[in-house]
Amino acid sequence: MSEQYYLDPTCSAVTGSEAVLGGDEAHHFLKVMRGKSGDPILLFDGKGLRFRGVVETVRKMEIGVHIFETNSASAESSVRLTIATALPKGDRQKFLVEKLTELGVARLIPLRCERGVSKVDDGVLERLRRQVIEASKQSMRSVLMQIGGELTFAGLETAATDKFLLHPLDDSAIGQTPLRSLIDAEWANGLLFAVGPEGGFTDTETTDALQSGFRPVDLGPRILRTETACIAVAAAVLCSFR
Ligand code: SAH
Repeated sequence: MSEQYYLDPTCSAVTGSEAVLGGDEAHHFLKVMRGKSGDPILLFDGKGLRFRGVVETVRKMEIGVHIFETNSASAESSVRLTIATALPKGDRQKFLVEKLTELGVARLIPLRCERGVSKVDDGVLERLRRQVIEASKQSMRSVLMQIGGELTFAGLETAATDKFLLHPLDDSAIGQTPLRSLIDAEWANGLLFAVGPEGGFTDTETTDALQSGFRPVDLGPRILRTETACIAVAAAVLCSFR
């Protein structure tokens, strides 16, 4: 399997045709992959650039690379998709971040909901961002999915122009449209889907969201878990556009 290494700006840098790779990534190259001087290597900066080079120097947990090719062809979708969701707990949270990264979601915003079950502190965000790097390496994405700080619905007001509230087709008829009707539209400014916690959005949250311009969308009459709903909508949208 081809490997790409992330140039974390806190410990790595590119200057002209030379790069320094440090931190966990250098450790991985040296200790896990048993890399050495003279090896070819692929680096990415998380903002859309990928560098092909050869390892020139190996110092204690720091690798010097000579770059001979820079590529800006990214695997990003033409649709900028944001998922704002109440994060599930534990392994489901990790699974969610991994799959949304693979699918090409541009941004994940943890959404504070009345029935939310997960605490979102700096430690959690740091762990999730690490997860994004891992999934990007595996899926050959060269732009990192952004993970913002936790927001409430009010904080999402300017997050995107086209905002949708995912709500199951149950007794609470709120005028949902099927997701299919969104797929063929033009989404130049990107779009955002809000997904609720396991307990669902409260009536107040739903009413407020609809009043502030969210449009209701359903994924059918089956109730999906939070992470399944996020992944399903990301797959439906991002696999329909290039
Ligand atoms: N008992 C809750 C279920 C919540 S499921 C309720 O009835 O609302 C968790 C979240 O996933 C929901 O808040 C919604 O945002 C999303 N979701 C689950 N199934 C869905 C479906 N069929 N259509 C649209 N959204 C769905």
